[in-house]
Amino acid sequence: MKTIYTFGNGKAEGRADMRDLLGGKGANLAEMNLIGVPVPPGFTITTEVCKIYNEKGREEVVQLIKADVENAIKHIESLTGNKFNDPSNPQLVSVRSGAPVSMPGMMDTVLNLGINDAVAETLAQKSGNPRFAWDSYRRFVQMYGDVVLGMKPKNKTDIDPFEEIIENVKKEKGVQFDTDLEVEDLKRLVALFKQAVKDNTGKDFPTSAWDQLWGAIYAVFDSWNNERAILYRKMNQIPEEYGTAVNVQAMVYGNMGNNSATGVCFSRDAATGENLFNGEYLINAQGEDVVAGVRTPQQIMTEGSRRWAELQGISEEERKAKYPSLEESMPECAAQLVEIQHRLEEHYRDMQDMEFTIQDGKLWLLQTRNGKRTGAAMVKIAMDLLREGKIDEKTVIKRMEPNKLDELLHPVFDKAAVKSAKVMAKGLPASPGAASGQIVFFADDAEEWASRKKKVIMVRIETSPEDLRGMSVAQGILTARGGMTSHAAVVARGMGKCCVSGAGTIKVNYKARTVEMGGKTYNEGDWISINGSTGQVYDGPVATVDPDLGGDYAAVMALAEKYSKMDVYTNADSPRDAQKARELGAHGIGLCRTEHMFFEGDRIKAMREMIIAPDESSRRLALNKLLPLQRGDFEGIFKAMDGYEVTIRLLDPPLHEFVPHQLETMRELADQTGRTLEEVKLICDGLEEFNPMLGHRGCRLGNTYPEITEMQARAIIEAALNMQAKGIKVHPKIMVPLIGVKAEIQMQADIINATAKKVFAERGETVAYKVGTMIEIPRAALVADQIAEVVDFFSFGTNDLTQMTFGYSRDDAAKFLAVYKNLGILKVDPFEVLDQEGVGQLVEMATRKGRAANPDLNVGICGEHGGEPSSVKFCASLNLNYVSCSPYRVPIARLAAAQAAVEG
Ligand code: ADP
Ligand code: MG
Ligand code: MG
Repeated sequence: MKTIYTFGNGKAEGRADMRDLLGGKGANLAEMNLIGVPVPPGFTITTEVCKIYNEKGREEVVQLIKADVENAIKHIESLTGNKFNDPSNPQLVSVRSGAPVSMPGMMDTVLNLGINDAVAETLAQKSGNPRFAWDSYRRFVQMYGDVVLGMKPKNKTDIDPFEEIIENVKKEKGVQFDTDLEVEDLKRLVALFKQAVKDNTGKDFPTSAWDQLWGAIYAVFDSWNNERAILYRKMNQIPEEYGTAVNVQAMVYGNMGNNSATGVCFSRDAATGENLFNGEYLINAQGEDVVAGVRTPQQIMTEGSRRWAELQGISEEERKAKYPSLEESMPECAAQLVEIQHRLEEHYRDMQDMEFTIQDGKLWLLQTRNGKRTGAAMVKIAMDLLREGKIDEKTVIKRMEPNKLDELLHPVFDKAAVKSAKVMAKGLPASPGAASGQIVFFADDAEEWASRKKKVIMVRIETSPEDLRGMSVAQGILTARGGMTSHAAVVARGMGKCCVSGAGTIKVNYKARTVEMGGKTYNEGDWISINGSTGQVYDGPVATVDPDLGGDYAAVMALAEKYSKMDVYTNADSPRDAQKARELGAHGIGLCRTEHMFFEGDRIKAMREMIIAPDESSRRLALNKLLPLQRGDFEGIFKAMDGYEVTIRLLDPPLHEFVPHQLETMRELADQTGRTLEEVKLICDGLEEFNPMLGHRGCRLGNTYPEITEMQARAIIEAALNMQAKGIKVHPKIMVPLIGVKAEIQMQADIINATAKKVFAERGETVAYKVGTMIEIPRAALVADQIAEVVDFFSFGTNDLTQMTFGYSRDDAAKFLAVYKNLGILKVDPFEVLDQEGVGQLVEMATRKGRAANPDLNVGICGEHGGEPSSVKFCASLNLNYVSCSPYRVPIARLAAAQAAVEG
């Protein structure tokens, strides 16, 4: 078994397409070597080894890879001419994790590994730069202490134990920045850090490079199972069993002085998609400094630098003097970087997110990957690449993450409202969107508030991976520190969450739970608004409006239309929802529920009258009051859906849901119907059921009280005729819920057809209509062939079908489903993602049997799953005619349907 793949000096054993084995980072480090990009030499331990580690433990893994690791270290030595674990000519390395799917900030990296007192002395002498040597050393102890030895802050309001030591030393010296510390201070830091490690762990800090290396390798493997990595995988549905690779790579030093630097860059704008190479860097810095916001990062390109200065209110003179671009400060490296980013984008044919380091004037690339981006950038970049001839139409469709389209559909600030809103601070437009919410400072508070349905904005000095949970439930994120590549910015863009970062003028006080800005002190719970597209922070809430859905968005949707084979309908109960869904591309209504129509205004009175009616004739009297109301509703919907099918489901919920539960309303009903309170109470109590979801509902109502079905069928047919007379193209489909037995649907179909016939005779005109059924009871799926003989269409009600197939009550499942997901009993919530293995079998079988019995059978689904991409793709694979989902999910379903078609 090959456990290690080496790379360096233009050669590599791995390749870009080996990311499952080498992780994304390792595969791309190999590939960059192969296309002539300068990358420090190194090697990758495969994800297979991680799996073995997780199953069999350390000993087994050491036995398996010890000799390979030693050889691979020799490979690095042969290319650099230095020696690992040799104080006279030391080679330092970084140890980096890298999973098959990029998980930013999830796994921990250790830099400058291999250093100890003697090595530091040699590095100081050889480089003639003792500051560099001791800065590297103190960074190493800090990172190793944190990542490998578990030295973390104890409480959420505490700062990192190492940062605390640094702050104290800086305070004693009276300096502001790390770069202001001198060699003696750095030496003191190393000693203090090691002491802190000893105090905390009871062990001496390891001095042997080999001990350090193995410790770091274990730590990377262990980090696959740390809490935030697990959470990130859950949130992004990344399989647990992938495992991470370990990359060991020769160090290059961005902290060697003022001719050295480190940075992060993107070949296009990850927030807006603009085709503008951009990024940030810091002179004399290392690793995560740019991202962590320890100093204000500078822009790589002069154009970007000017834009940045304007947003920050910094004059051109000050910008040039204090924050020059890389183009200005190191023009040769900048030019080379521009060429390389171009080459990488050409090679990968997608926007690249890259890391680089400049050591003493020489540029090295340390990472490249397809960059995370907002929904808007996703759409624009793909369409730009199509127009540039770099990708084809099908690739555009494949590149979309359907769920991300959701971001584009969300409201933006109303222009007029923004004009009168008060700007309290300005930061960087880190991730676009408009958000209003109440201030919270900590992730757990954000979660707690959000669980109480509060809208919150997380306000922090900076964010770290610990804040992920909070960020995911917040409306938006505001940070005081950090640039466009800060943790907050990158994660927010990945989540499609509005974010303003680096609002330097705001003062956050965690202990007091306050933030000062624009001369006002805000407490936890106060309202603010942020605009992630401009960087503005406003006082209080600001009104929003619908976004513009033209341009590249429309172009992508047109491509989806062109390629998809399955149609997308919507679930809509009102003309307004129908209209919205139509605008978003729905081609019909797959589910129009009629029950809510009985609740509006005074209608519920007539409904209740009908329910407590003692006999058929008084029931009919009450139903006659409802008829014109229903007819009016249907007319509105037919009009909104002119030219498209409208599927109307007959009454479904248990009658008990409609009866009064309070004495007061019971008395009203008694007065209204001329009965005594006791009588009314008796009837209502009589309707009480032990298990209403399995009780007197659905077609069981229509079969026990045929008048109800008659009235509804009449309302639908009359409405259709009325609208047809006005020149509207109507395609009514009448859908019977909760069928389990053929005779049930037969009886309902007979009532509907007889009613239609009657209405046609009365009116002297006809309209084409269809009769169909929901398939939501497992028995119906089993006898689908029999049922198909009676109907024109099936619509899988996958919510109920899931409920009844699993035997999980939809209304009670939340409690145990969360636990089940944590325990791994279920990977996902089956009410969110269609269970293809189980429920999917019923869908497949019923479709197959139904179509065999009735070749013209039209089949679709109308559960929540109709707007969930993987479920939509499953439906496409069964050649269903359509999926139907809520209006705002329509674009997502359309794209998923197109993906299913082009992915084949
Ligand atoms: P992440 O996956 O969180 O981005 P990385 O492994 O990419 O973590 O590394 C963290 C930081 O350390 C990055 O800024 C990276 O460029 C830097 N880095 C990693 N390896 C080296 C190295 N061999 N020399 C210099 N810097 C490095
Ligand atoms: Mg990285
Ligand atoms: Mg149902």
